[in-house]
Amino acid sequence: MTTYPQGAPAIPAGAPAAVADPGSVAALPSDRDFVAALPVAEKVRLLTGADSWRTHGNATIGLRPMVTSDGPAGVRGTVRDERHPSASLPCPSALGATWDDELVGRLATALGLEARSKGVDILLAPTVNLMRTPLGGRGFEFFAEDPVLTARLAAAYVRGVQRAGVAATVKHYVGNDSETGRWIYDAQISETALRELYLVPFEACVREAGAWLVMAAYNKVNGHRMTENLHLLRDVMKNEWGFDGVVISDWSAARSTHETAAATLDLSMPGPEGPWGDQLTLAIHEGMISEELLNDKVVRLLRLARRVSALDAPLDGAASERLGKQRAQLVDQGLLRTVAAESFVLLRNEGGALPLDLSAIGRVAVVGPNAVYPTIQGGGSAGVTPASVVSPFDGLRAALAGRSEVVTAVGCRTWHTLPEPPASSLRDPVTGQEGVRLEFVAGDGTVIGAEHRGSANLTWWDTPHGIGWGQPGRIVLTTVFRAESSGSYELGVAGVGALTLSADGVTIIDGVTAVPDDPVEAMTRPGELRTACWFGEETDTSLRLEFRPAADGAGPVTFRLGLVPTADDDTLLAEAEATASGADVAIVVVGSAELTESEGFDRASLSLPGRQDELVSRVAAVNSNTIVIVNSGTPVLAPWASQVTAIIHAWLPGQVFGDALADVLLGATEPGGRLPVTMPAAESDCPVLHATPDPDGTLRYTEGLLVGYRAYDINGSVPRYPFGHGLGYTSWAYESLDCRAGVAEGEDLDVFVTVRNTGQRPGKEVVQAYLAEPGQPADRGRPVRALAAFSVVRAEPGQQVVTALKIPARAFARYDEDLASWIWPGGVFTVHVGRSSRELPLSMPVYSGVI
Ligand code: BGC
Repeated sequence: MTTYPQGAPAIPAGAPAAVADPGSVAALPSDRDFVAALPVAEKVRLLTGADSWRTHGNATIGLRPMVTSDGPAGVRGTVRDERHPSASLPCPSALGATWDDELVGRLATALGLEARSKGVDILLAPTVNLMRTPLGGRGFEFFAEDPVLTARLAAAYVRGVQRAGVAATVKHYVGNDSETGRWIYDAQISETALRELYLVPFEACVREAGAWLVMAAYNKVNGHRMTENLHLLRDVMKNEWGFDGVVISDWSAARSTHETAAATLDLSMPGPEGPWGDQLTLAIHEGMISEELLNDKVVRLLRLARRVSALDAPLDGAASERLGKQRAQLVDQGLLRTVAAESFVLLRNEGGALPLDLSAIGRVAVVGPNAVYPTIQGGGSAGVTPASVVSPFDGLRAALAGRSEVVTAVGCRTWHTLPEPPASSLRDPVTGQEGVRLEFVAGDGTVIGAEHRGSANLTWWDTPHGIGWGQPGRIVLTTVFRAESSGSYELGVAGVGALTLSADGVTIIDGVTAVPDDPVEAMTRPGELRTACWFGEETDTSLRLEFRPAADGAGPVTFRLGLVPTADDDTLLAEAEATASGADVAIVVVGSAELTESEGFDRASLSLPGRQDELVSRVAAVNSNTIVIVNSGTPVLAPWASQVTAIIHAWLPGQVFGDALADVLLGATEPGGRLPVTMPAAESDCPVLHATPDPDGTLRYTEGLLVGYRAYDINGSVPRYPFGHGLGYTSWAYESLDCRAGVAEGEDLDVFVTVRNTGQRPGKEVVQAYLAEPGQPADRGRPVRALAAFSVVRAEPGQQVVTALKIPARAFARYDEDLASWIWPGGVFTVHVGRSSRELPLSMPVYSGVI
């Protein structure tokens, strides 16, 4: 038996994966033997990254380095730049809106294959935290506010990725549901809320989907850092759920030697620095940490290596590099387009305004900032660089070519940092190609590298040519800019450090920006210095931007050049109004700007940024056929909702946005989404809004189980659009509900629902079953009802379908903190079935207990 210091119970040796997933491999018995034979220092070396993204290999045992890469909405690879593009997927909240585990699984397998083709073994996804607050900066990376919906889709995602032979990493375990203070806050969450809400998706990914890694979060839970949380890592995840994979730290989240090692963290990333290394070797030699505990970590790492074929099919470093450089197999655009359309939620459709009747439409106005500058993804580690992006304006113009005239106007400005100029307006002064020239200059003035780049928005995860935080040296960008039309332009330079911009040899910006609190913010929301300049039409201007990273900065090295024609919102709003008033339909695309939603910080407000609310109202006042598309990964306020004919919530849909939107607006496909999160009517209605830790770092989850719709159902406030809502292009009748009258303790309940497509078009319906507890659950701080099962139904006009839903035994149970276990209290529950958490036409009592 394995023994641990402090009398801790043993982790079952080589516990099998709960589900025999294709490609699932248990550790071979011999792994334990040859791990035991490795020198302690060598074993310790394997447990810290070799660099930002790779683990160490070991030639003696035929172990090659394994490559990790973010993330949930596309696989970046180890570099992020336009020369190595990635497919940009609909964000996870969009996947949540599909409610379709089969589709999510298919997309995840395609993502896994793209990862494989880029030499990536370990995908740092999915993110399965819950949308506790709609302001959460990473809400777009989460599937839903509900644990059951999240669990089912996340498990499908894990299975899908791992089917491709790539490891999924379920993150961030646990309590990282908001960003403010994420490095330090101490989430105080009751064991009941943990078990019944926040742990549910992790448990499903481990037990049902057999996830190969779980990532321990930055924050603390109930007083202990998650990388040091013995109870949640070892007792719950490994011993209770039988997790046989690797617990990896979030990047730089391992902050101690002994506590992290003893809490059964297995892999500290990134490297090569970190709290383990020599200190851990010493702790083992001194008997502070047992060698069996160390061996268990290495056995887990080898099991992972077998699973991703890093051990049984050894590659040398060069072969792995080659794999990384070969042509990547990007996720198919057709699949991306299908998933995006399946995620769009039709919130409102007065008089059947959608799909558009083209026979009545000669002129279409596609207005709004996101019509031209769409936000296809959220900021932070989830970001990728796609090969191309189709904006709503481009997508509709292409789809309507030869049929209708399509005109546009941006309406107002929302960006935080100025957008980069189109590559076609920039020329590399050395090669003459579209784009910019970079020179990497050492502290002594020697040019140590130079390259052409197709973009003026630049990010490096590792220091380029050794130039980075605290290093002497600078990066110099030169380019020749040619304006399309003469006039005043705004220029912006963003980055954390010193920035100097000159135009034809004259310095026009020279300053220093501040170092943000969170290192990821250095990449997503760096400080910007701006000026204005007049450029003549078709005249060349030489621009030179010099960037010196701040001595005390941290995180990825980023800087960028922004350049746009000067404009003021009053003029832009008036232009948009005029454009819309002359059109047969006005499609207003509003939403987040590039940096509204991001890792590293939470949003400050649910209102659309800039003057977009005013834009919608003004357009609606001049065009009675106004359709609003909301391009946001999380909820926004829509004070104008009753003024417009139709609203689609389109999330952050990835690179195919415009094409998928054209498909849906023109009726080639149906908007198939249903809300995975409540859309509030007012900020004050939100059960949790600002997740700001107390001054001592405590973040209290005082709402307990009452998150999202569970709270709305109790406090009486009416959401603008409820959880589960979404219209589609046909209509449905809920005809009958059938299930057994009683269910025994620990038994699942099969529920059969008959629905009929009563409309004129084939369509998709998401049949939702909610379970209500006996008595007055609200008096016990429990929800009146909670999502228990759901299924996707597709039917032709007039067709009747009987769909089977399985309500799991756990839905009838609750966690008892005194007994530290699940109990089945029994009594008469009610199964409610319908099309949203607020539209539940069918119901039936079910007795749970001894039968
Ligand atoms: C994020 C993780 C991510 C890691 C590596 C961290 O800041 O929280 O989600 O996987 O960086 O990029």
